[in-house]
Formats: sequence, structure tokens, C-alpha cells
Amino acid sequence: MSSPRGVRAWSRRRRIRAARTAVVAVTVVVAGVVWHPGWGGSPGHPGALADEDPLAFPDPPAQTATPVDPTIFAAGSCMAFPPTKGNRGVTVFLDAGHGGPDPGGAGVTEAGRSIDERALTLPVVLDATAVLRADGIRVVVSRTTSSSVVKPGAGDLSGTLWSLSGKHRDTAARPLCANMAHAAVLVSVHFNVGAQPSEAGTLTTYDAVRPFSPSSLALATLLQTDMVAALHSHPGWMVPDDGVVTDGTVGNALSSAAAGYGHLLVLGPAKQGYFSDPSSMPGALIEPLFLTDPFEGSIAASSQGQQVIGHAIAQAVERYLASRRP
Ligand SMILES: [Zn+2]
Repeated sequence: MSSPRGVRAWSRRRRIRAARTAVVAVTVVVAGVVWHPGWGGSPGHPGALADEDPLAFPDPPAQTATPVDPTIFAAGSCMAFPPTKGNRGVTVFLDAGHGGPDPGGAGVTEAGRSIDERALTLPVVLDATAVLRADGIRVVVSRTTSSSVVKPGAGDLSGTLWSLSGKHRDTAARPLCANMAHAAVLVSVHFNVGAQPSEAGTLTTYDAVRPFSPSSLALATLLQTDMVAALHSHPGWMVPDDGVVTDGTVGNALSSAAAGYGHLLVLGPAKQGYFSDPSSMPGALIEPLFLTDPFEGSIAASSQGQQVIGHAIAQAVERYLASRRP
């Protein structure tokens, strides 16, 4: 949840991480050990996954970021990050799925810790953001904190969770942010949940009825390929390749209107009386792992896993952009 306590804990862990990274860096120089500073586990056991708090590793929010429209979006949401090196004149939109009154799907790590999409999509998106910015790309993210994307309005909340209208407005705010940011590409990051712990793997979704659907399929295929390859490059992380599917086959319709729509709002077309501001650029939604599989949930909850996933997303986006150059 979005709370002052959470923000303070985040800052504190960030400092701890910086100190830890510095110690590891010194260790590498002194002992000559080949080790990636900042990764989980230990130099002696590089595959080991610490059961870390998922909020321990995102980049600090928004020192150089500017809000796209603070009248529509919540504080810290729909934020534009300029490139940190060079400027290729292109904008990528990254959506950290769920947030605020919407925890998304829930799962558990092998150590028994409860995890949810809201907390785990954010560090992945911020990792990918840092990679893309360093390569001259402007990145607009749906959120930089644990909060919602849209500012809640009257009737949007039901207790501590969204009402149906709130959930609809917050989801629709993501393609709206991408449009207002003039993004060339949209990538929405989620994690999957299943009815059984045995359901596992990487899945990417695109919408097949948009004018730019062939480009969305190309993007989705690159995301799926690079994610599976990145995970498989780590010993033991042989997660299943669940492939690329259309968005009519995934997601849980929360209402009959949503069921009648038959698409995901973040990717799908307009529908009169239901959804008026669809995304205007090629897009895909990736679910790198299942949180309900404790093995995959532990990867998703680890800083090492989040970095691998974030880098794979950045790489796929870069490959997509390279394929579009004249
Ligand atoms: Zn989700």
C-alpha cells in the first residue's frame, strides 16, 4: 500500500543497498572475484536468492522526472524521465501494472513471504527505465511509487480497494499517459497468477485488432524471446515458454461490460460508452513469471530476478526500435 511508512522504509533500504554495493565493489577489486555488484545471493553462491523486500531495489523516484499532467495523474505517476546519456528523440512508455488500491495478483516465495504484482512490477520497470535512459531514450512510466496512476475521484474507492469504476479509470489512465507522452512504444509489465502452484512460465500478450497490430506482435515476440532467453541464461531458471497470445485470452473480466469488451484496456481499441482513449502506439503486456509458483515468485521477488527481467525488457524494446529504423 502507499503509505508514509512504506516510503521511509524504501529510502532506508536504498541507503543500505548503496552501502552494500560499495562493499561488494571493494571486495571485487581486492579479491579479484568476478561478481556483479548489487545482485542478490553472495559471491560464493551467485545463484542463491535472498528473500528480499521487493521495494529494496528500485532507482530513487523522479529526481529528474517531470509529471506529464499532475491534474489527471496521482503524485509521482505518469512521470517523464529524460535520457541520461545522448538523446535519440524517442519516447518509450513503461507501465508498472497495478498499484495503490489495486494489489494485483498475489503469490508467495519459497520462504513463505506473501508477494503481489503491485510491489514487484515497479522495480522491474525502474530497472528497465535506467537502461533505456542510458541509451538516449526518454522513458515515461505509469508510476514511480506504490500508488495508483489516476487520481482517485468520487466513487472510485470501495474501502481500501478500487470500486469497479476506479479500477477502470486507473487502468485506462495507463494508455492515456502513453498517448499524452507521445510514446512510440508501450510495454505493460505484470506478473501472472494461476489456480495451481504448478502453473508457470513467461507469457506475452498483444492486441490483434489495432491498426498497428503487426508491429505489436513484433514487439511482443521480441519481449517473449528476450525474456525467456534472459531467464534461461541463469542456472536453474528454466521457466516454461508460454508464448505470445492475443489479449482476448488473458485477464479476468471484472464486469459484464469488461467481458463484452474482450480486450485488455491497456492494449485494446476504443468502445463507445465504455472506453474512449485507447493507446495510439504498438504495445505489448508481458508477464515474466507466475507469482503463485513459489519458485518463480522467489525469482520475481529478488533484486537479481528483477534486474534480469528489467534488462530483458529494455533489450527487447531496443531491438524493436532498431527494427523500425528506416
Ligand atoms: Zn496484473
